[in-house]
Amino acid sequence: MDKRRGGRAIVIGASVAGLVTARVLSDHFDRVTILERDRLPDEAVVRRGVPQGRHAHVLLTAGQQLLNLWFPRLAEDLLAGGAVPFRTRDVLWHQGGAYWVRPDPGHPGMSMSRPLLERAIRRQLLLERPNVSIADDVAVDGLILDADRVVGVRSDAAEHRADLVVGCTGRNTRFLDHLANAGYPAPEISAVPIDVAYGTRLMRRRPDRRDDVPAFILGDPAGVHRMGTALPVEGDRWIVTLGAAPGEALPTDPGEFEEFARALPAPVLADILTRSQALGPVLVQGLATSQRRHVERLRRTPAGFVVLGDAICSVNPIYGQGMSTAAMQARALGQAIERHGRTSPSLPRDFYRRAAKAVDMPWRMAAGPAFTGHRSGIAGTIGAEIVDRYFGRVIQACHTSVPVARRMVRVQNLMARPAALMTPAMIVRVLLSSRRSPVEGDNRPATDGAMAGRRRRPGPGTGSGRQDQARNSSI
Ligand SMILES: Cc1cc2nc3c(=O)[nH]c(=O)nc-3n(C[C@H](O)[C@H](O)[C@H](O)COP(=O)(O)OP(=O)(O)OC[C@H]3O[C@@H](n4cnc5c(N)ncnc54)[C@H](O)[C@@H]3O)c2cc1C
Repeated sequence: MDKRRGGRAIVIGASVAGLVTARVLSDHFDRVTILERDRLPDEAVVRRGVPQGRHAHVLLTAGQQLLNLWFPRLAEDLLAGGAVPFRTRDVLWHQGGAYWVRPDPGHPGMSMSRPLLERAIRRQLLLERPNVSIADDVAVDGLILDADRVVGVRSDAAEHRADLVVGCTGRNTRFLDHLANAGYPAPEISAVPIDVAYGTRLMRRRPDRRDDVPAFILGDPAGVHRMGTALPVEGDRWIVTLGAAPGEALPTDPGEFEEFARALPAPVLADILTRSQALGPVLVQGLATSQRRHVERLRRTPAGFVVLGDAICSVNPIYGQGMSTAAMQARALGQAIERHGRTSPSLPRDFYRRAAKAVDMPWRMAAGPAFTGHRSGIAGTIGAEIVDRYFGRVIQACHTSVPVARRMVRVQNLMARPAALMTPAMIVRVLLSSRRSPVEGDNRPATDGAMAGRRRRPGPGTGSGRQDQARNSSI
């Protein structure tokens, strides 16, 4: 197999999946061109093709590590753009009725808006990879097939020829339908109803406050499964995103939005909404299903074309996996090219098999009830019920056990598989620690300014003192 660079690749879509794919392809192709339908803004603002960009986006450790590897100056660029640094041990995570203990010592993270992240990746890509270019305002409307190979794409009247085309146009991609119309089998689609709505409001953040850390508040899956997050971001702003329970409407009226936040099991988000100046209206977006296209099961697919990113798997964003999963798929594409070469007819099938492995864990986590409280259709067997119940205990154990919380955070960050929480030693820890989980409210910070309160030791009347005990627990 030829290891030198050569030929031309086209990536359709300049969102996160398209950008990281172009980065990986730039190691293998002489020229990589990204074609993007939107006109790309110079500023870090939400654009039409990525409407989810207005909602809070977190970058998991697995994705962060790949981005840092591919773009060594990304963190610098983000900080220059106003991203807010924090240590992961300072993150507030409230789930199962109380705050989780924070794994020590934590590692550095950064909080920023999704448009800022996308702009920084785009900038770094163009700065560091001279063989990559982006043509914006170009809507691709079809693939060019020759015999059993995709040899390019069409946009308006123009044709763009390439040795490999990668479709990164998101969950509503049409390109696999185009191929089905040309006689290729269409992939089976798994769709898990979630029927959730997310609503976001930008608030002014006082730069002199020292409690600017991301906060995540999740309702009880067995009860009202609402959630919310507040991220400190550039421009002295908070992004406050609330998620409704399945089937529930998310209010756009500011007062009702705040009431909704107040009903969450911890007051931190409502407090931000109460004390801060609003910078815009509440903007809501719904998501009906988590969806996976089983491209790995395709028996026949043309050479020279694959889809990647949300086009393969797009799940309930509650655990913030989409961008990191896209990066893991891009890495898998690079591995498949290394194995087979740029133009091999075996490339698509091998990539789809590798991509399936990359999306499998996020899919099981986000589509399964153990993590989300949503009935998934994956469950239903006695074994699955037991696993679900066990993960309920894991969540309880995270209130008191540092080792369990540390492992759980690794799983959530796609750094370890859920099976890592099911080793015999872990099971013992989980079962013992979950019995010591504080009752609702015990871990709640002492003041209404939850983030200020969390730095205090609970005094008389502010809790049972088990929080301190929990922090020191080594079970
Ligand atoms: C409410 C919400 C919150 C989320 N929160 C998180 C989070 O916290 N963390 C996280 O990691 N992920 C999150 N995600 C998921 C994340 O946004 C996506 O996984 C991520 O954007 C990668 O998607 P993508 O690049 O595959 O597709 P998209 O982001 O959908 O981008 C598709 C791109 O293709 C372009 N395009 C479309 N059609 C054409 C065409 N015909 N020709 C040319 N260009 C075209 C579009 O303009 C766009 O630029 C969230 C999603 C939602 C809905």
